[in-house]
Amino acid sequence: PTVLELQDLHRHYPLMKGAIFRRRVGTVYAVDGIDLEIRKGETLGLVGESGCGKSTTLLEVLQLKPPTEGNVVVLGKDVREIRSGAERRELRRDLQVVFQDPMASLDPRLPVFDIIAEPMTVQKMDKQAVEKRVRELMALVGLEPSHADRYPQHFSGGQRQRIGIARALALEPKLLVLDEPVSALDVSIQAGVINLLDELKTRLGLSYLFVAHDLSVVRHIADRVAVMYLGKLVEVGDVDRVFDHP
Ligand code: ADP
Ligand code: ADP
Repeated sequence: PTVLELQDLHRHYPLMKGAIFRRRVGTVYAVDGIDLEIRKGETLGLVGESGCGKSTTLLEVLQLKPPTEGNVVVLGKDVREIRSGAERRELRRDLQVVFQDPMASLDPRLPVFDIIAEPMTVQKMDKQAVEKRVRELMALVGLEPSHADRYPQHFSGGQRQRIGIARALALEPKLLVLDEPVSALDVSIQAGVINLLDELKTRLGLSYLFVAHDLSVVRHIADRVAVMYLGKLVEVGDVDRVFDHP
């Protein structure tokens, strides 16, 4: 089965000129006809230099709304057939994101317990069940559960990213979007986080859309790699084949 399908995906933005007369002078073809699929249990690496359209592609997936042209099918659901905000929120639960900068995405005013628990609290999960689940999640990502009352500032960069991963896993999603998850980390701790992600994928039967500007980051985790350039995919294939390409 397929967890994500991008069918001839386009996202065009109006190119405006002037601060006062917002005159349209052209079109930015940010994503310009992408076909891609991720199968269950697969890690797809989406790579390409800055400005090639990776973030726009991610947004199209995360918003669960019809693109400019083409289509997005998430976990078997055609986004054009989503009829209500409630339906969109429900689907959104199975699709979670790990952001690039854990310092920017974790609220420094909240203890780690609250950060990880938040998605469950929003779902009105029973208090005891939440407490148990937070401890489980912390252990799962290699954090000491008794540190749940500490604040994000007290953790190292790699540990903070583990907090972000625990939070993303709280509602047992099926597809994780990893948006440059190790790019803000020291090179010496990147491998630890990548290994953890790889292990979690196998253990939990997850699928990943792993976005990175650098091919080397996804080399050891991706099953397939898609290389993006100026809004188009210039190469899609098994990781070894793409790497061996002259
Ligand atoms: P990447 O994530 O690979 O760096 P982006 O998806 O951010 O690439 O950008 C792709 C192209 O679309 C770039 O030329 C960028 O300037 C343009 N772009 C992105 N967002 C917008 C927007 N909201 N309005 C206009 N142009 C945009
Ligand atoms: P940090 O990234 O926080 O600097 P490490 O990467 O060295 O630290 O690992 C922090 C904790 O995560 C350690 O307790 C380690 O045993 C655990 N850990 C490292 N790799 C994995 C993995 N692949 N799966 C689960 N736990 C891991």
